[in-house]
Amino acid sequence: MNGVSEHCDVLVIGGGPAGQKAAVQAAKAGRRVVLVERGDVGGECVYRGTIPSKTLRASAMCLADLRRRTGGLVGSEIGPDTKVRTLMGRLAQVLSGHRKYLGDQLRRNGVEVVRGRCRFESDHGVQITAPDGTLHHYTAELIFVATGSRPRNPPEIPVDHEHILDSDSILSLIYLPESLVVVGAGVIACEFATIFQSLGVQVTIMDRYPSPLGFLDPEIVARFVTTFEEMGGRFLGETKANRIFHDGLGSVIVERDQGPPLKADKLLIAQGRTATVAGMNCEAAGLQLTDRGFIAVDENCQTSASHIYAMGDVIGPPALATVSMEQGRRAARHALGLDLGEGRDILPVGIYTIPEIASVGQTETQVRESGQEPVVGRARFEEIARGQINADEDGMLKLVCDESGRRILGAHAIGGSACELIHLAQLAMIGELEVDAFIDNVFNFPTMAESYRTAALDIVAQRASVLTPA
Ligand SMILES: Cc1cc2nc3c(=O)[nH]c(=O)nc-3n(C[C@H](O)[C@H](O)[C@H](O)COP(=O)(O)OP(=O)(O)OC[C@H]3O[C@@H](n4cnc5c(N)ncnc54)[C@H](O)[C@@H]3O)c2cc1C
Repeated sequence: MNGVSEHCDVLVIGGGPAGQKAAVQAAKAGRRVVLVERGDVGGECVYRGTIPSKTLRASAMCLADLRRRTGGLVGSEIGPDTKVRTLMGRLAQVLSGHRKYLGDQLRRNGVEVVRGRCRFESDHGVQITAPDGTLHHYTAELIFVATGSRPRNPPEIPVDHEHILDSDSILSLIYLPESLVVVGAGVIACEFATIFQSLGVQVTIMDRYPSPLGFLDPEIVARFVTTFEEMGGRFLGETKANRIFHDGLGSVIVERDQGPPLKADKLLIAQGRTATVAGMNCEAAGLQLTDRGFIAVDENCQTSASHIYAMGDVIGPPALATVSMEQGRRAARHALGLDLGEGRDILPVGIYTIPEIASVGQTETQVRESGQEPVVGRARFEEIARGQINADEDGMLKLVCDESGRRILGAHAIGGSACELIHLAQLAMIGELEVDAFIDNVFNFPTMAESYRTAALDIVAQRASVLTPA
């Protein structure tokens, strides 16, 4: 090792959501914290993931909403020469606001931010290469690895970032294509597919599994596919791409295991993410990787080296900013011997497709697999005044209760406000409220939250029919 090492209590590698939360927690506990970031604090979430994709989605949503609410009279077309950058017009303001907020938060808590690329030299020591090439060395009592992930691009697919794109490069498109094939049907694939479809692009999703978003409630997924196809999109399940290439003219060709080849202006490959560990020299710290290349951790994000924690996308699915933050917070508290808090295991999932999808707790299928017969209540948004007003009639909320029809085990929603709506169920579950709480309390009218009352009434009606058989 060259040069003198500086020492700190806690060293955090990576300034995305997971790293930031761990750094702030440790600093609040009075430790000297150094956060090393090779780019800008904010991570994939701010610069290539959540914030840019949701900014483009906001424009797509305006168009989709206008079309739906006016029966297609307004906002049905956008010109073929529309620049993607125009549709993301607010991105610069969103990013500068977010950058300022993140910087202020770290400064306020006394976290020292060091710009550079970090690699392990030993289990307590790292080398940092600054942007000007100078080397710095740090040792620390505790180390948190939050280096995130990048798109997993299989070697046989020639991603050129011009015709064949990944989730990082798709937002650099200059013009909207006329057609797009999306290979993969996970969260990122479905989000981009519905955003581009809403912007008037002809989108085909293809995947080797029979349906997209396989971890969700099948009834919600079926509604999602129907709505996507009603918007003009196409889902091809149980389809495998044998060869993907650009024809040298203007099209990307997908030769598949069945049916004629697909042809489109652009192709998005969205087949999951891989951990950013290349060049980290994890072996020097004794870190073990899983067979999928993620850093192996226990339930508290502790690695095989007890003073090193890893959190966020670098430890694998679900790879969400929300979960990454919670892992960062939890890891720091565990490492510092602080109370972990309660109720944190009930985490919501929000998927910003158009329409959006959200879920918390168990699905009907999972409850059945655990040996219980669930009682399920549904509220179709066509029955809810706000759903009718918003032309959101295709949406639904599904509440899943235990056999008694009282204890809430899960909630699943698709449609406008689903990602906001789900937090009511999350808090009811954390607070162990019975489903009757949605009937005994008054909700604003007209709101989407009313759908909880309707779904709860559906459950109570089934409870009554079990108690008093006909
Ligand atoms: C298109 C897209 C849309 C998404 N939408 C959502 C959404 O709507 N909701 C949601 O919850 N999640 C969403 N996500 C997921 C979310 O962005 C990630 O889960 C989250 O960013 C992971 O946080 P992280 O801190 O683990 O890693 P990252 O945000 O990836 O941050 C890692 C940081 O580590 C730095 N780094 C890496 N290696 C080194 C090194 N050797 N030295 C120093 N620094 C290093 C990187 O520069 C980066 O800043 C989306 C992701 C994508 C791609």
